Amino acid sequence: MGASPPIYLDNAATTPVREEVFEAMRPFFGPKFGNPSSVHRFGREARAALDEARERLAGCLGAHPDEVSFNSCGTEGDNTAVLCLWRAVHAHGRRAVVTTPIEHKAVLAAAHQVAVEGGEERLLAVDANGVVTNDSFDALVNDDVAVTSVMWVNNETGVIQDVPALAARAKARGSLFHTDAVQGFGKVAIDARTQPFDLLAISGHKIGAPKGIGALFIRRGTPFEPLIRGGGQDRGRRAGTENVPYAVALATAAELAVAEREAHWARLEGLRDRLQARLLEAIPDVVVHSSGARRAPHVLNLSIPGTDSESMLMALDMRGIACSGGSACQSGSVSPSHVLSAMGVPASLAGAAIRMSLGPMTTDEEIDRVAELVPKLVAKARSLHAA
Ligand code: PLP
Repeated sequence: MGASPPIYLDNAATTPVREEVFEAMRPFFGPKFGNPSSVHRFGREARAALDEARERLAGCLGAHPDEVSFNSCGTEGDNTAVLCLWRAVHAHGRRAVVTTPIEHKAVLAAAHQVAVEGGEERLLAVDANGVVTNDSFDALVNDDVAVTSVMWVNNETGVIQDVPALAARAKARGSLFHTDAVQGFGKVAIDARTQPFDLLAISGHKIGAPKGIGALFIRRGTPFEPLIRGGGQDRGRRAGTENVPYAVALATAAELAVAEREAHWARLEGLRDRLQARLLEAIPDVVVHSSGARRAPHVLNLSIPGTDSESMLMALDMRGIACSGGSACQSGSVSPSHVLSAMGVPASLAGAAIRMSLGPMTTDEEIDRVAELVPKLVAKARSLHAA
């Protein structure tokens, strides 16, 4: 009997490019290679494809096409949102940026840059499940705040924030509102017509498009200082020749993600709950992070006392199971996750955290294999620990 095929449980880090997406972008690497700024037929063909991609993505967000700005990734979207909004409005007496301690580093580092440039960064409190507390929101989002940035779905725990309500409250206090929807897009319902966020960032490689493409929704009328200046593409918001094939890829992946959203949620929730229940049954002292809050169904983050995540991840990898210890950017670093620390998880438990993130390829059979193997690895790790 041959070795079992590897199991990929790191979909929050990245997802494979979908076949339909690959096929949709292929012609733009071949005969349809034009520059959308050129006036000849090659350029016009590329422009038409780019415009269509923008319209299709706008349709997925409940946005007008001119509110969609393609960029290179979620990190660029988050940086652009925080810095460009703050730079545009801080001169008018609003010098603070408010965000959460559980954001991706793309937001945290941008908020920190605001402080370097003379502003102020403030971090909201989160409860033990990683949900932003109302008290801290009321205390910190006041009339000197330029930008409030709260992620929709956390990449390490899957916890969901009530972004529409928080956006409404921030805006009532005169703050602009950005949300990092990199993990939320395709999972939660997003509609710019009814939800009052000003900016929203998404990333292609989390939803079956290639790495290196993302988009920022920028509501009409939002003050904005471009980060990248040059040839005036994208109405001056982001200079640089547009990546037509990847824009087509993102629009295609986004449409598929929106069309499949509810079915995808139900399927992943079933798989995640089954994995969680089986692991809890076999290892009763497992701690499931954010289990007391609403979670997106693709993430299961748990700590197994008496083990450490580095060794567990290696042991799992040797048996063909790919998971992570936190966010991809933190793999390889020994410091405990800033997300779990902010939730008050003790360092010993945070150091034993494993994130399993499910995706379109995940099957029942894989979940059963993982549920059988993990308790065996834990028993082995604990016996070594005790020795
Ligand atoms: N925000 C969140 C919540 C993420 O999970 C990630 C990627 O892991 C990013 C931002 C950054 O996205 P990208 O990898 O496209 O730069």
